[in-house]
Amino acid sequence: MHDVLIVGGGPVGLFLAGELALSGCSVLVLERDREPGSPFQALPLGLRGLTAGSAEAFYRRGLLAAVVRASGADENRVGAAAEAVEAPAPRDVSHFGGMGLDAAAIDTSALPFRLPSPAMEGFMTSLEAVSAVLSPWAAELGVEVIRGAPVTAVRQDDEAVIATADGREYRARWLVGCDGGRSTVRRLAGFDFVGTEPLFTGYTARVTFADPRQLPLGFTLTPHGMYLRTPFEGHLGLMDFDGGRFDRTAPLTREHLQTVLRRITDTDVTLTDVHLASSFTDRAMQVTTYRAGRVLLAGDAAHIHSPLGGQGLNLGLGDAVNLGWKLAATVHGHAPDGLLDTYTSERHPVGASVLDWSRAQVATMKPGPNALALRRLVHDLMSTADGTTHAYRKTSGLFDRYDLGNVHPLVGRTAPDFRFEDGLRLGELMRQGQGIALDFGSDRPLEATATGWAGKIRYVAGKARNDLGQRALLIRPDGVVAWATEDVPALEEFAGGAARWFGSPEN
Ligand SMILES: Cc1cc2nc3c(=O)[nH]c(=O)nc-3n(C[C@H](O)[C@H](O)[C@H](O)COP(=O)(O)OP(=O)(O)OC[C@H]3O[C@@H](n4cnc5c(N)ncnc54)[C@H](O)[C@@H]3O)c2cc1C
Repeated sequence: MHDVLIVGGGPVGLFLAGELALSGCSVLVLERDREPGSPFQALPLGLRGLTAGSAEAFYRRGLLAAVVRASGADENRVGAAAEAVEAPAPRDVSHFGGMGLDAAAIDTSALPFRLPSPAMEGFMTSLEAVSAVLSPWAAELGVEVIRGAPVTAVRQDDEAVIATADGREYRARWLVGCDGGRSTVRRLAGFDFVGTEPLFTGYTARVTFADPRQLPLGFTLTPHGMYLRTPFEGHLGLMDFDGGRFDRTAPLTREHLQTVLRRITDTDVTLTDVHLASSFTDRAMQVTTYRAGRVLLAGDAAHIHSPLGGQGLNLGLGDAVNLGWKLAATVHGHAPDGLLDTYTSERHPVGASVLDWSRAQVATMKPGPNALALRRLVHDLMSTADGTTHAYRKTSGLFDRYDLGNVHPLVGRTAPDFRFEDGLRLGELMRQGQGIALDFGSDRPLEATATGWAGKIRYVAGKARNDLGQRALLIRPDGVVAWATEDVPALEEFAGGAARWFGSPEN
């Protein structure tokens, strides 16, 4: 019997599998598709934007350089940010409902606790590139993957979860559904999935146009919807406000796409060929809890929304990073009471906020004068320094803050990438997935106490080049600050924080 069964070997399932294996769990991934890689994961249809928050997650596991390389992103840009003396200004703020935002307008003084790091920037990648890095990483850590294994039944008792795939039963102590937006696990395990119905049907396609010059690059809003042309030849996105009525199980024909395209663009543009196409909607739904007994959900299985602003993958990777170490501690029997339930209490609000951000974008794109008036207003607000900064805070993945009691302004936030005098960075210390006790005091006051959690917390002492005024910090394996102080550390306080997240020291 495995410790954890993961249903779905997409990016979220693979990242979670690696996190669990890093923490010493035996992990089996059951993946429906027989063969790895599909044309929908490769460019251009597999094009995805990674936020700085996701870049940071890869960086902390030593995977960032490989993802940047596999994505064909600018490696110099990553290195330059790391070596800068001060955190460079962000260079990208994505868009809001197709309205471009100007990164130069961001007020960096309103972005708290930033330090230079290799993971300051988001970049464009593809599902194929992410998988090309995560698959071998998970395999090296001992994760087993069975392909051609679509899960069709799930049941659980007090001891285990049993999944059926391709006529075989697989038992594990825990099961995580990472099986995407149409999750079978979500349905079989009886999760409530609630939210709002779609206003549009979206299409993403690789086509050949008879006359591509009729359609400009970028997002174009029209009285009937929106279309997008990316720099990839023949790559087209369409959002058709049909109330989400298109039957997405029906074949996507050239005739249908052409009709929609002509209606939205109000041109006589002709598609001579459709090479690859798929559809999506802006249905925005989320499970009410991320756990039902021994079954948990992560990624699109837990939440779906429109791809506008590119946040679904980033949100799912954040789920995986948050869940991995908590589930591993539960498997190993040293999780403090209630640790696993903090997965829902921390990640559900982040997911709900992303759903609202996507709904707000759709509200400014709807055909008609009301939405247009709203769009002009939002455009004006987003053009201000405060508006752009707010959008960056909401979408970069670096400024989410969990409510952990938050007595110190850093608690609940991702830790800045502190750097020691010898050049070593916090992010480089996190590759083994342990918690970190950072002690910047030269007299090593935390050392004796911290070693009580040896194996779960790594004690690191030394002088920092850039400590932002803190004397000591406790950082969870997901990089979130659990405790921090500017004073001589009070040992009971540190021990209280350590016990809250890592259990009692004698375990
Ligand atoms: C057009 C478009 C553009 C997007 N752009 C962005 C972007 O720029 N940035 C961003 O962050 N997000 C973006 N997204 C969203 C992003 O692609 C998803 O949020 C992300 O892929 C979800 O990852 P996942 O691992 O949760 O699910 P998936 O990628 O859907 O993976 C699920 C896996 O589970 C497998 N599976 C399904 N059912 C079963 C079963 N019963 N048994 C076993 N295996 C099963 C599937 O084969 C698949 O491998 C976009 C989405 C679309 C449609």
